[in-house]
Amino acid sequence: MGGTPTDIKLIDENGLRVDGRRPDELRPLKIEAGVLKRADGSAYVEWGHNKVLAAVYGPRECHPRHMQNPSRALVQCHYNMAAFSVDDRKRPGPDRRSHEISKIISEALTHVVFTEYFPRASVDVYIEVLQANAGTRCAGLTAASVALADAGIPMRDLVASCAAGKAADTIILDLGKEEDNFGQADIPVGYVPRTEEIVLLQMDGDLTMDEFTKGINMAVNACKKVYDVQRDALMRRYAARQVDAVVDLAAPSDDTKEGA
Ligand code: ADP
Repeated sequence: MGGTPTDIKLIDENGLRVDGRRPDELRPLKIEAGVLKRADGSAYVEWGHNKVLAAVYGPRECHPRHMQNPSRALVQCHYNMAAFSVDDRKRPGPDRRSHEISKIISEALTHVVFTEYFPRASVDVYIEVLQANAGTRCAGLTAASVALADAGIPMRDLVASCAAGKAADTIILDLGKEEDNFGQADIPVGYVPRTEEIVLLQMDGDLTMDEFTKGINMAVNACKKVYDVQRDALMRRYAARQVDAVVDLAAPSDDTKEGA
């Protein structure tokens, strides 16, 4: 968040934003589940100019052993932004920001995973940001919960995520890069539609109580739309698996092949 440079008009005379969106409009969102063969579950999200991959391994024995919880599994998220994901090359490796994002996403996902089913285990979630344009923690959390479901991890529900914020004195949804850089506030939200719980909430910038409430409502409504896209991705994945299973059944096994 920072001051608006004079040459950037975040809201024009028609009430539209830098990229032509209305204040309450999401950037285009596409989700695909099951994109990686080696992971137990995976998902790929394109959200505006953000491109994010999530891969899930586990539940598996938690290492190092002193980290194990005898009564439940740990959900451990590792968020990473690729060096080539931003305009200037990002210095590779973990930093304060990636630690913070990994921690809040781990906590959000812990609320929905039935961790008590897997004592001493770890569920590892890797989020790789390939291209970043603001909102990567929301895109990462959205991808991660689809990847967990794709891995068959028992969950209460998916977590859907989206940010609201404020730019040019207007409450807006799903901030783009210029709005994130030069706007007045950013509130990323993680929401569980089935239980109506908010499991991730941060705020950068200043808002009045009314603006905050309006922003949260806008973000929660958007999360419900994100949730529909997540569910569609999982339904497509499920349908593709059914087709694969039928093809496997129809294929002649080695001992029924002619000449076997
Ligand atoms: P989020 O991506 O969740 O909005 P931030 O608000 O911290 O998280 O970052 C906003 C955007 O700023 C990122 O999406 C990315 O485009 C850019 N950004 C973040 N960290 C860096 C960095 N180290 N170098 C260059 N750009 C960065």
